[in-house]
Amino acid sequence: MSFLGLRFKEVIVSSSGHATTQQEQESSARPRRSKSKFGCRECKARRVKCDEAYPTCKRCQRQGIVCSSAPRLTQWQIETPWLSLQPKTFVNRRLLQYWLEKVSQTLVIDPENNPFSFPALEYIAQSSALLHAIQSVSASHEQYFSANTPIIALEERGKAIACLRKEINQSQHAPNALILTIMLLALAQCADSDTKDYGKQHLFATRAMIHSMLQNTSMLATNGPAIQLCLGMYLYWDMCSSFLVDPCESQGLNSLNISNAVHRMGDWHHPMYGTCSGLLLIMANVGRYCRQILDSPQNRNFVQEAVLEAQLTTWKTSPANPRLGHLYEAFRNHGLIFLYRAGAHAQSSCLMDPDSSEAQESLIQQYAEETVRHLMQIPATSHYLNFQSLPLLTVGSELTESNQSLRDQVRDRLRAIYSLNRLPANLLALRLLEELWDARDRGNPSFWLPHMLQKDWRLLLG
Ligand SMILES: [Zn+2]
Ligand SMILES: [Zn+2]
Repeated sequence: MSFLGLRFKEVIVSSSGHATTQQEQESSARPRRSKSKFGCRECKARRVKCDEAYPTCKRCQRQGIVCSSAPRLTQWQIETPWLSLQPKTFVNRRLLQYWLEKVSQTLVIDPENNPFSFPALEYIAQSSALLHAIQSVSASHEQYFSANTPIIALEERGKAIACLRKEINQSQHAPNALILTIMLLALAQCADSDTKDYGKQHLFATRAMIHSMLQNTSMLATNGPAIQLCLGMYLYWDMCSSFLVDPCESQGLNSLNISNAVHRMGDWHHPMYGTCSGLLLIMANVGRYCRQILDSPQNRNFVQEAVLEAQLTTWKTSPANPRLGHLYEAFRNHGLIFLYRAGAHAQSSCLMDPDSSEAQESLIQQYAEETVRHLMQIPATSHYLNFQSLPLLTVGSELTESNQSLRDQVRDRLRAIYSLNRLPANLLALRLLEELWDARDRGNPSFWLPHMLQKDWRLLLG
C-alpha cells in the first residue's frame, strides 16, 4: 500500500452541524470569529485577547516574551487505513496525528513536500521502532520538552530503543526509516535537561550506517532518492554537531567517499534544506577544523584555512526561491565568521597577539550585519525558520553595542524558532548571546564556542 501523496482536508463543523472543508469555508467568505478560543498560553494566563498569529502572537512579540501556543489538530474526513497495520495497542492516535500535522513539519522547509509526514506512514506501519520514536517525540514536543519529560515520552522512547535493536539487524527495514528513528531518539535525548548531551552515540551509529551504505554499490544504484534522503539527514546533523564532537573522538566519514556521494547528489532538492548539500559538507569540515584548533591552537593550518575559505566563497547553487537564497547566504557567512573567529582565537592563545587584525574585525562585522539582514528577509511565519538557530548564534555573537536593533531582531527570531520547534536549545542559545553581549559591552568580546564549552554546554542547534 502506498501513502505517497495522501492528503487530508481540514473539516470545519459549523454551528448548524454542517461540515465543510476549509476551502469551501474560505470561498463562502464568512466573517472570522472575533473571539479567541485558542489563544497562546501567555494571553490566556493574562485573560487578554490573542490574535493567534503563529509562531508568535502580536502581544508576545511586543512584550519580547516567548509565545507558546497550543496548535490545533484538524478533524480528518477519512478514517486512516494504516491503523489496522499495527497492533492497535501500539498506536496512540492523538500523538501520531500530532506528529503528522505538526511535529514533522519542524524537520522540513516545505510542509507540502514532507516525506516525514503522511508519506512516512508506509514506514511507520512497518517499523515499531519508528512509531514509538515518533510518539515519544510528539509527547515531549506537546509539553515543550519540559525538564520533567512526560512518562509516556520516556516509555515510548524505551520501547523505540528495544524495537530498534531488533530491527537494525533485519534487512527488510528501509534505511531511511532506521535513520529517522535514530535521529528522533537523538533529538529527544538532546532536548532533555542535560545540556552536555548532544546525542553522540546516535550520531556515531548513523555515521556507521551511512558508511556501510556508501560501500554498498548495489544499494546506491537501486535506492536513489531514499539514499539521498538519508545522506542529507546525516549531512545536516553532522554539520550541526561537527564542533561538539571532541577532537580525540573519531571524526567524520572518509572525506573522499562522502564528497563523492555529495557530488552525486548535486542540486537534488532535499526536503530538509533544499539544494545546499555541498555547503553543509563544507560547513561540517569548517566546524571540525575550528574545534581542532580551539583545542590545539598550535596546530593551526593556514593552507587548510585558505582551502575552506575558498570552498565557502565559491560554493554556488540555484535556490528554488530567493528566500532559500537568503538562508544559504546566512549559512555561508556563518561558516566564514566561524573560520575567521576560530583562527583569531587560536592566534591569540598561541602568541598573545591581539585577537585579530582591524581589517578582519571589520569584515566579520560586515558579514554579521549582512547575515541578520539576510535572515530577516525570511518572514517569521516561514518554515525556513527551523534551520536558522546556528547562524543566528554565530553572527549574533558578533553584533556590537551600536547594533541594538539587530540584536533585538536576533532575540525575536530565536524566540520565534522556539515557538515553532520548541527545542530548548534555542532559548539556551539566546542565554549565551545575552552573556556574550554583556561581556562585549564591558570590553571583553569573546568567541561563542569556547564560551559555550567552558559552561560545559554542548548545544545541538539547527
Ligand atoms: Zn497571544
Ligand atoms: Zn503569545
